[in-house]
Amino acid sequence: MAYATINPFTNEQIKTFPNSTDSEVDAALDAAHAAFLSWRETSFAERAKIMQKAADILRRDSEKYSALLTLEMGKLISEARAETELSAAIFEYYAKNAEKLLAPESLPVASKDEGRARIIFQPLGILLAVEPWNFPFYQVARIIAPQLSAGNTVVLKHASNVPQCAEAMDRLMIEAGLPKGGFRNLYPTHDQVSRIIADHRVRGVALTGSEGAGAKVASGAGAALKKSTMELGGSDAFIVLEDADLEKTIKWAVFGRHWNAGQVCVSAKRMIVVDKVYDAFAKGYREGVAKLKMGDPMDPSTTLAPLSSQGAVNDLKKQVEGAVAAGAKAEEIPLPLPNAGAFFRPVILSDVAHDNPARREEFFGPVTLLFRAKDEADAIRIANDSPYGLGGSVFTRDEARGEAVAAQIETGMVYVNHPTMVKADLPFGGVLRSGYGRELIGLGIKEFVNAKLIDVVDIDAPF
Ligand code: NAP
Repeated sequence: MAYATINPFTNEQIKTFPNSTDSEVDAALDAAHAAFLSWRETSFAERAKIMQKAADILRRDSEKYSALLTLEMGKLISEARAETELSAAIFEYYAKNAEKLLAPESLPVASKDEGRARIIFQPLGILLAVEPWNFPFYQVARIIAPQLSAGNTVVLKHASNVPQCAEAMDRLMIEAGLPKGGFRNLYPTHDQVSRIIADHRVRGVALTGSEGAGAKVASGAGAALKKSTMELGGSDAFIVLEDADLEKTIKWAVFGRHWNAGQVCVSAKRMIVVDKVYDAFAKGYREGVAKLKMGDPMDPSTTLAPLSSQGAVNDLKKQVEGAVAAGAKAEEIPLPLPNAGAFFRPVILSDVAHDNPARREEFFGPVTLLFRAKDEADAIRIANDSPYGLGGSVFTRDEARGEAVAAQIETGMVYVNHPTMVKADLPFGGVLRSGYGRELIGLGIKEFVNAKLIDVVDIDAPF
């Protein structure tokens, strides 16, 4: 059975879900298309009511939703509550702002002979969302809140280890009052995903996930000449300059690498520390990581959650072995391991040479790559020596210096004095092998609309 809930804290299988049949896939697309024909005519005010209702339900039933996140992918219950609230905030953001963000724009043309030119933004049709397990509600909210607000309809293919979270989002939108077919979760096979992309009524694909999945799904979308957005992996640099507030920086570093058990596309995966403060940072960081506590993610005293599955633990172990075989030094932090569950002891990798393949990989769990940089310029060079371009941070007491360094890092997001943040009103997305397109705010809602020019011209105007 491909879709299953397996509790990562116990490795126990709780529930399985059969794959969707071909006729269920066809019925979902028929319903999504029929819904689109009326939903695109529905006013922004009506759509906003439904988005606000979804936010209200998530907040009302936060404990129920949050417990489901922890059950299926193992995150700490405090992190699950924060994710449920963030998802609600995204629905609310679009309830309040979608109409303004998609308001027609008049063009300041050079001469009145060019006419009265305006751009209007119209929905495209059915979109396919392919989403990962690390933020089972937030990732879905990030695409459905803007796109349903814009008048599109959405079919979801969620990760195979979070089927109950996927189902919960489907039910949430029904309870919020979305017309039947407007948003539908399926349990498709990868082949069925290809078939959905090829269906002529499907007008776009948004994927968040790994590079491998992104490359396959993007090529399917490309072959069918459909717009896609790709939110892929990352290996964010966390640059520490000599004038940083070291004590606070170390706290953020420990948090930035270990929240969500290190399974965040924008985790601070590469600590790049200038020579002058390297030893002090390394000592403090090691001590900070050693204070983490692994255990039951439902227990408020636990600070390091299990990974999402035993398979993820095994894969990460192999990746660390590969890095060591290629010359890196690995230091395991000897935290007590719970008796069962998909737990992984934090590892700090140093001496990761330029030709070590680990330097170009994403470590999706509590593994830190630690680099000593000669100075600021060298830190920037190391930060940019990556195939990824998602987020990153710079720590310095000098904000202007931080901004100048941030401008030289080749990624979609850089924070000064903070690990990469996730908020309802800040955009999200990357460049290079971290993908293309942006989610959230006005940038996200405009990814899947037709920016249509309508120009009213005087019939006697010259050509
Ligand atoms: P994944 O294995 O790529 O899976 C992501 C989604 O793609 C899942 O729904 C998966 O379904 C599906 N998928 C995989 N191969 C497919 C194929 N050939 N055809 C159709 N669908 C396919 O990634 P993950 O392990 O769930 O998530 C971790 C990755 O996501 C990391 O690389 C992380 O950095 C990235 N991520 C990026 C962002 C961002 O915004 N940039 C945010 C979060 C995570 P199955 O489960 O059925 O395989």
